[in-house]
Amino acid sequence: MADRDCLFCKILEGDVPADIVYESDTAIAFRDINPQAPTHVVIIPRKHIATINDIDSVDHEIVGSLYTAANTIARDEGFSDEGYRAVMNCNKAAGQTVFHIHLHLLGGRVLSWPPG
Ligand code: 5GP
Ligand code: ZN
Repeated sequence: MADRDCLFCKILEGDVPADIVYESDTAIAFRDINPQAPTHVVIIPRKHIATINDIDSVDHEIVGSLYTAANTIARDEGFSDEGYRAVMNCNKAAGQTVFHIHLHLLGGRVLSWPPG
């Protein structure tokens, strides 16, 4: 299931260090190495799925679990009520650079809309 060329699979396997803030049966989350907000956490499924385009109906529960991870971390970080953003980029035009799906959780500041 792991892709040996995938950075996030290497983090899952413990081969690349990361500041892990959340773990469940289906997902883990760690702090982004280049944070774009006071809290910037990357939430990934344990299953290697390259892009949103590769999500299948059998993955619904896994993908849904990324959002319960997000609301749990947002509560723990203290910005649930204030607000936050959970966003997933797909392919190059959207800025995806790591091809293992991940939800960016950004919070702790006012976030403008629309994004660039
Ligand atoms: P994308 O651009 O694919 O939507 O997001 C990839 C994210 O992964 C970026 O925000 C980037 O800063 C983060 N990232 C890239 N390499 C590493 C790493 O080795 N460790 C951590 N913690 N984050 C990383
Ligand atoms: Zn992967």
